[in-house]
Amino acid sequence: MKNRWNDKDAASYAAQEPVGLRVYTSRLLGAEEDLVLHGGGNTSVKGGARDVFDREIDVLYIKGSGWDLRTIEASGFPPVDLEYLQRLGNLEKLSDSEMMRQLRLALMDPTAPTPSVEAILHALIPHRFVDHSHADAVVAISNTPNGEKRLREIYGDQVLILPYIMPGFILARQVAEATRNLDWASIKGIVLMHHGIFTFAAEAQTSYNNMIELVSLAEAHLESAGCVTAINTADYVPDVETAKSLAALRKAAGSKFGAPVLVRLDHAPLATGFASLDNCADLATRGPLTPDHTIHAKAFAAIFDDDPLPGLQQFEQDYEAYFAAYDDGSLRCLDAMPRYGVWRNRGMVYLAGNLKRLKIVADITRHTVRAIQWGEAIDGWQALPREQLFEVEYWELEQAKLQSGASRAEFEGQVVLVTGAAAGIGRACVAEFTSKGAVVIALDIKRGFADSFEDAAVLALECDVTDRTALEHCLQQGVLHFGGIDVLVSNAGLFPPSESVGEITDATWDHSMELNLNSHMRVLRASLPYLINGFDPAVVIVASKNVPAPGPGAAAYSAAKAGLTQLARVTAMEWGADGIRVNVVHPNAVYDTELWTDSVLAERAARYGLSVEEYKTANVLQTEVTSADVARTISTLAGNSLAKTTGAQLPVDGGNERVI
Ligand code: ZN
Repeated sequence: MKNRWNDKDAASYAAQEPVGLRVYTSRLLGAEEDLVLHGGGNTSVKGGARDVFDREIDVLYIKGSGWDLRTIEASGFPPVDLEYLQRLGNLEKLSDSEMMRQLRLALMDPTAPTPSVEAILHALIPHRFVDHSHADAVVAISNTPNGEKRLREIYGDQVLILPYIMPGFILARQVAEATRNLDWASIKGIVLMHHGIFTFAAEAQTSYNNMIELVSLAEAHLESAGCVTAINTADYVPDVETAKSLAALRKAAGSKFGAPVLVRLDHAPLATGFASLDNCADLATRGPLTPDHTIHAKAFAAIFDDDPLPGLQQFEQDYEAYFAAYDDGSLRCLDAMPRYGVWRNRGMVYLAGNLKRLKIVADITRHTVRAIQWGEAIDGWQALPREQLFEVEYWELEQAKLQSGASRAEFEGQVVLVTGAAAGIGRACVAEFTSKGAVVIALDIKRGFADSFEDAAVLALECDVTDRTALEHCLQQGVLHFGGIDVLVSNAGLFPPSESVGEITDATWDHSMELNLNSHMRVLRASLPYLINGFDPAVVIVASKNVPAPGPGAAAYSAAKAGLTQLARVTAMEWGADGIRVNVVHPNAVYDTELWTDSVLAERAARYGLSVEEYKTANVLQTEVTSADVARTISTLAGNSLAKTTGAQLPVDGGNERVI
């Protein structure tokens, strides 16, 4: 493992006393996915502070809950009264919820975040800097039948190795007991079986170096045992049937979860390689890398065959049996949706209630399937017994964490397909829906437009929606990435050059029909297999004010949009029985779109004998209509407040006398 310490960077942090270097090396640990993932691990530094009575107090600055080591800042280290923590560590007994109350009581700043659950343990270690990670290599070795023996061989006397115990107060007690007569100067670290590793020192750099050194020794051991080359890889190219099956799986999974969910098929060579192993089903249900992962990914995987639905049912039964086996009668069973599954010979499937959780599940699973194969390459993968996994999954403190911030955004877990997404109304729709919790499959023909979206909630794909094959392929890609389509905003369009009927060219006419009408039919047709499995599925068609109130010189545009409106009305009737709503917006005079170049605007204004400024606000409300206004109307039509409306046409035009 690479040592990322850099003197120059360190110097720039060192000035920010008292936690400058603590922030620096915490970020170095956080930058290494093989050490910590998504809020895992914790670090601390001991120092002094002066209270309001001018007393010098010994303080532990420890990672606050909710912070991630990768991005932690000084304010992510709440100051805690060190002596108070040490006294807590001397108690014989303390429940975990009482411990959390006590940790808040011991804060030197009542507005600071809650200290890590490992605060007491950090306080008991008599070194200034303490670093704790869940290093893959170390934990993987501990998950094998001879893991403890191997770790002793790797580390000799320089590391204390302790058996697995639940995190929290009892872990702090265990470490206190085990180190009662220990000469701390004689060891560089402590390994907690099935959990992780601690290093410590007087200096930030030494403690960090010790972490990298000890983890590198474990990595070298795995490498020399042939584990690294034991990782299986395979290729799989998903087809449209796979995408449809995934959408059906997502729908069924959402009913177990109780809300819309995102689902992703990972068919990278590592994922497909694992799913191609003959014993993948056995391996994926033996248990996770560390019990901590059960919080995000549950204790075991679902196993999917060609039709994944029976595997989902099986998981539910297995999960309920697992709950019944270990519940003491006081617990409430969590949802029975798997968080990851092995889809035989295809890849790994990730499932979660929103994008943030999907990413966590994906990262945890990628690290887990690699560690499992390492373990298999030595003495075999042997995770903790399920009873102990259950204890962590249903640990009151973790349950409390999951409950916090439980309210869901309006479109959370939903997938929106937007065509013509590079600019104007389409782009405004991407912003509108993502701001309300959705993820978006954004299509546009504009080259390079995908680079303008840096949000993981947006999958931007270059696509000519008039090209049936390209369109269907892009939808398939989008569904493999997010799991389905719930909302379609069919928006791609163009404003052809102004030509009167007597002079209109075939090219102008045909091109307008192709993009403004025909392509919408193809998008509707290609989306149906996914919408049918959508959560509260809805389609919004972007037509035009020109439908109820056409203008001269715009025959090719108006006729296509009128045809499109009629297409939407028929679709609303055909798809209603499947619960898919289809509505139409008729925007007018939206000038921040690419359709409205300066010349088109000037020409249109002239046709009505108006100046450009008069033309822009020539409506009943005398107001300018923006792309964002239209996007808001579209999201309202797609959302639950209009759940009983289909086949409607809604103007977004500031009020037009000819339309009214
Ligand atoms: Zn830990």
